[in-house]
Amino acid sequence: MQRAWKGKTPRRPALKKTNNVEKDPVGVYCRIRPLGAEDEECCVEMISSSTIQLHAPDGLKANRNGEYKETQYSFTKVFGINTGQMELFEDVARPLVEDLIQCKNGLLFTYGVTGSGKTYTMTGSPGEGGLLPRSLDMLFNSIGPFQAKRFVFKPDDKNGIDIQSQVDALLERQKRDSQQSVPKTPSSRQKADLEFADMITPEESRKSKNIDEDCSYSVFVSYVEIYNNYIYDLLEDAQFDSVRPKPPQSRILREDQNHNMYVAGCTEVEVKSTEEAFEVFWKGQKKRRIANTQLNRESSRSHSVFTVKLAQAPLDADGDYILQDKNQVNVSQLCLVDLAGSERTSRTRAEGSRLREAGNINQSLMTLRTCMEILRENQMCGTNKMVPYRDSKVTHLFKNYFDGEGKVKMIVCVNPKADDYEETVLVMRFAEMTQEVEVARPVDRPIYHLAAGRRHRNQAFKDELSRRLEERGGPVNGGDSALMNQLIESLPALPPCELVDPTDDQTLPRLIEVLEQRHRIRQMMTEQVTHTANKVKFMLQQFDSQMSSKDTFVHDQQSKLNEKEKVILNQKTEIERLEKKSKTLEYKIDILQKTTEMYEQDKRSLQQELEGQEQMLQKELSERRRMEQRMQGVVTDTKLKWEKECERRVNAKQLEMQNKLWVKDEKLKQLKAIVTENSSGGSFPPEPPKKPERPSRERDHTMPQKRSASPTALPGFNQTPLGQNRVNVRTFQDHYCTSTPSTSSPYPSVASCISEWEQKFPIDSGSQSRLHGTPQNQNRTPAPGYSTNSVDRRRGQRWAPDTEAPTNDLDRNAGTRTVPPVRPTHRRSRSAGGEKWVDHKPASNLELDTVMQPIIPNAIKVSTPNEKALSKCHKYVLRHQELASDGEIETKLIKGDVFKTRGGGQAVQFTDIETLKQECPTAPSRKRRSGSDEGPAQTEDIENRAPVGGTSSSNGYQKRRRP
Ligand code: ADP
Ligand code: MG
Repeated sequence: MQRAWKGKTPRRPALKKTNNVEKDPVGVYCRIRPLGAEDEECCVEMISSSTIQLHAPDGLKANRNGEYKETQYSFTKVFGINTGQMELFEDVARPLVEDLIQCKNGLLFTYGVTGSGKTYTMTGSPGEGGLLPRSLDMLFNSIGPFQAKRFVFKPDDKNGIDIQSQVDALLERQKRDSQQSVPKTPSSRQKADLEFADMITPEESRKSKNIDEDCSYSVFVSYVEIYNNYIYDLLEDAQFDSVRPKPPQSRILREDQNHNMYVAGCTEVEVKSTEEAFEVFWKGQKKRRIANTQLNRESSRSHSVFTVKLAQAPLDADGDYILQDKNQVNVSQLCLVDLAGSERTSRTRAEGSRLREAGNINQSLMTLRTCMEILRENQMCGTNKMVPYRDSKVTHLFKNYFDGEGKVKMIVCVNPKADDYEETVLVMRFAEMTQEVEVARPVDRPIYHLAAGRRHRNQAFKDELSRRLEERGGPVNGGDSALMNQLIESLPALPPCELVDPTDDQTLPRLIEVLEQRHRIRQMMTEQVTHTANKVKFMLQQFDSQMSSKDTFVHDQQSKLNEKEKVILNQKTEIERLEKKSKTLEYKIDILQKTTEMYEQDKRSLQQELEGQEQMLQKELSERRRMEQRMQGVVTDTKLKWEKECERRVNAKQLEMQNKLWVKDEKLKQLKAIVTENSSGGSFPPEPPKKPERPSRERDHTMPQKRSASPTALPGFNQTPLGQNRVNVRTFQDHYCTSTPSTSSPYPSVASCISEWEQKFPIDSGSQSRLHGTPQNQNRTPAPGYSTNSVDRRRGQRWAPDTEAPTNDLDRNAGTRTVPPVRPTHRRSRSAGGEKWVDHKPASNLELDTVMQPIIPNAIKVSTPNEKALSKCHKYVLRHQELASDGEIETKLIKGDVFKTRGGGQAVQFTDIETLKQECPTAPSRKRRSGSDEGPAQTEDIENRAPVGGTSSSNGYQKRRRP
């Protein structure tokens, strides 16, 4: 058990009046209450948030001949008629509560005429709590969990606070409880709670954030009334005698060692909650009301002072107990003063004692006014006049706020009605003057040299301890104090032991009796404890043996568990191994999947390629088939031609041989005649034998002559365009030449012609390829051993340059053979390059989309050939377009050499034909697909036929080709 620390409140050094002290002016706020009736005349107007204007009421103006002007007054802040209690609290009282928690004193008083709203502002009404309940609420919201146990802080009688241990506090609590004559009824408590509950809504609750959690707090409230310059304690417990009412005992003021004035012997009630504090306040109010009624007092003429005192002391280093050092106890207080009405005596119409009261009331307010004036003068002018605080109890009580330090705020309440005008003007003047008074700012509280967060750490430690105890099945609550409480409560209460009378022979025996009783109980308890201890010992032994058997069991189980754990461990490793394996397999699967995808892509592309190639192959095959067919046709043609030719030659040979035979026969006959003439003389020459006739086919002029063997024809014959005529002429000549013996004829015989021709063109050359337009044929130089077609082309034909080229080789072979007028001796070699071309492109030609377009450098492009162009070039090419058998337009490049004619003109000998042609491979298949549904078999068929189909034209395709 710790002894109470009975230290003395340290004397604070008296505040020297130095200029270094920081000072704040008294905060003066003005609150205008709404008018009682709307039609009332209003003489106060709020101009801005800090200024109001007073207008003299009409009647007054008339009385004083308009002497009164409008006057303006400025304040720290003005609150209009619509200002709520909360707003006022936030601006005015909240900072004071914060200061209180920070160990700084504050004084807040309401000033104004009766009915201006002073009590409303301070106390409020149900649903609209005033500054007092709100301040209490904020204070308890802030210190709530950090409050010390009741009686740990204990007011001494000198305005200081003592501190004692928790145990002492507990004992004192018990003592007080046992002495309490009338226990609180729950109903009254409930009622008070309800009254408070009406004041503030939970949303309006405020809380300070600057609370020091490493301190313990206690709140004490006192409530005094100053009436007629007497101070009455409103919380005093004295019973009011309704039969013979005694005037209440007034209290005197004393100064404590800190120079603070206090009401000596005033009741200070320790309160632990807002409700409790308000209950105390309510109790005081009630008492005040009863006294006023009983003693026939005017309530508006008393000043009421409600003081909230906050004691705080730091927790020890462990954060467990409050530091038992009175020097460390900080006490701060907030005084909430509801002053009496400031109206003058004349207005109250009081008589007799009442008049004296009213005068006194005004006297105290007058003293307040005087004090403020002198203070202001001293502060402003540097004078040192004595401030008459002692002249009234109110000023005396708050002397140190102005002399020492603290925060002072005043709310000036104004009723804007015309009746109050004159009083209001006085109030305003006082208020304006008051705000020029400065008060020393309270200094900051000392900082304890202890680590912060002690309470928190201690709480955490306790929580942990109880948790562990709970785990072990021990007591959950370390409620030593509760147990102790119970124990002490169970003991017989101590009787009052005050010895007043020396002859008192009752008190001591009664005390002895009670103590003996307690002693007996103690002995009984000790015995019980010993008995219980033995029992517990026995139980413990039993428990021990049980424990040992349990231990062995546990040991067994442990070994089993270990084995199982080993198995589990093995399985875990196995699982890990398998997991790893599955992961690698998954990885492999991944890779394989990717590879498969790649291969599939390759496969797809290859398949596409294959399909393309197959299509090409098909195309080539069909092309080849077509070519074969064409070749076969050509071969048959050639064969037929050659057969006819051979027949013709054989006939010619036969004829020649017959002719020769005939000539020889003739000669023989002539010789024979000569011989017989010579031998017989005068015999007649024999009849010449019949000249053998040409075979009928030889004479058939409808059969075209295929070749002309001789390039050197007679000039006269050269002019004939048809070789057929020439052959006829030659045949005619042959006939007549052979009849003359002269062999020196310039004309070759038919036989010589044939033999010469045979030398040039062997029969087997017909089997050679003669496809016109193929590249092999185009670049060949004229040489023996070419087919007839080829030779004809090499020899060329002569046309006028602007005539159309023959459309068919066979036609050309049939009859339009001509001989170039000049031997092409001057022709340059093709390999030499640099040949100049006449590019004849008739205007009617269409542009085809063929890829292989002829690009001829050094070409003169013409749409109609002319002499001038031809004279400059060695080569001529004609772009001839026609419709092919498959309906496609094909362009033929008919190339030739340009010769100079003897007559000075130009002639062209055609040498080559190149064909440009485009086919549409898809046209027929497209056409077919647009028809009805066809299965895969048909599709294949279409694909196979596609190249063939390219040669036949579709309507759509033709349209595209012929815009
Ligand atoms: P005082 O204490 O100055 O004599 P009271 O506070 O008793 O004046 O107010 C007188 C009446 O005026 C009360 O009924 C109160 O409810 C009302 N009252 C005062 N101020 C206001 C206000 N700001 N808003 C509403 N009613 C008010
Ligand atoms: Mg009042």
